[in-house]
Amino acid sequence: MDENKFNERIQDLVEEAEDKPVRREKKEKPQLKESIYSLRLDELKDWLEANGEKAFRATQIYEWLYEKRVKSFEEMSNLSKSLRDKLTASFAVTTLSTIISQESKDGTIKFLFQLQDGYSIETVLMRHEYGNSICVTTQVGCRIGCTFCASTLGGLKRHLLAGEIVEQVVKVQQKLDEVGERVSHIVIMGIGEPFDNYDAMMNFLKVINHDKGLNIGARHITVSTSGIIPKIYQFADEQLQINFALSLHAPNQELRQKLMPIARAYKLDKLIEAIKYYTEKTGRRVSFEYGLFGGENDSVEHAEELSKLIKGIKCHVNLIPVNYVPERNYVRTPREKIFAFEKTLKKNGINVTIRREQGSDIDAACGQLRAKERAQETR
Ligand code: SF4
Repeated sequence: MDENKFNERIQDLVEEAEDKPVRREKKEKPQLKESIYSLRLDELKDWLEANGEKAFRATQIYEWLYEKRVKSFEEMSNLSKSLRDKLTASFAVTTLSTIISQESKDGTIKFLFQLQDGYSIETVLMRHEYGNSICVTTQVGCRIGCTFCASTLGGLKRHLLAGEIVEQVVKVQQKLDEVGERVSHIVIMGIGEPFDNYDAMMNFLKVINHDKGLNIGARHITVSTSGIIPKIYQFADEQLQINFALSLHAPNQELRQKLMPIARAYKLDKLIEAIKYYTEKTGRRVSFEYGLFGGENDSVEHAEELSKLIKGIKCHVNLIPVNYVPERNYVRTPREKIFAFEKTLKKNGINVTIRREQGSDIDAACGQLRAKERAQETR
């Protein structure tokens, strides 16, 4: 893709996100290039053939990007100079630059990356006994408006391109290369609603899952949605082996729409129908993410109501004791109430775990680092 086309595409994404025209003044546009990581292997082959090159070069380029993890086309020494020049003219290997990385005492590292057009996004590396997991961001900001989330405070600025999502993983992998470790798991639970940027998310999945790409197994990837019902049906029909999570957070319609305004558009009863369709179509279980907000949704009665709502669904409930978010008034649920909630679900035969808190000393809650950076920018 040439530079002008790519700049226009970025503008289109901004316009779509803001739902209004954006002035197209050439002098104000930064010079942007498409990330090479946006291209699936088949797309790269097509691009090569369209540019007078052999399709098999795509595999070589993938090896340089995803196995050797080079940072420039110049390093791709088995490609001709003319091909390297063509690639350089059309694509960038690096479109993210690291603004800050904060490391927690438990090994969690939170990265704040800057995009080519100046926006910043967050990515988190978490260390588990079973491996290294990355939480990626899919949008700059978010328009879903969950009342407990700092990421939505500034609204949606734009969708990320597939390559900008892939590059978050590559950047973190390059960091892990320094200590001989590998990214083993991906969770698409960072800033943004992945199903609101569906096509880019699907391309991202194809690149990281491909054996010539980052080769991360489907069962090691989890995608989470706030509940965009039509996309749940679409995703079910893809029949992937990818883990699927729904941010549920409430056992009834009234409470859910208080916590998550999206529930006004997508009602809880219809959402549960869509989830049942997903589990039946794929044969896979769903994870219900349930944030515990002190005094809001964390009583034993709520746990009983939740048990009834999801009874019979092949599922697992992940309880998330939510950190205090400075911009909102929710407080943390006390320990004994967390355990009482868990015990009630277990008594009702529901699989349940309590999420271990990671990186609490480094603003690891969704959106906090970016919000802090934005506050500093506006001072
Ligand atoms: S929790 Fe996720 S979907 Fe909800 S506003 Fe925040 S980023 Fe968006």
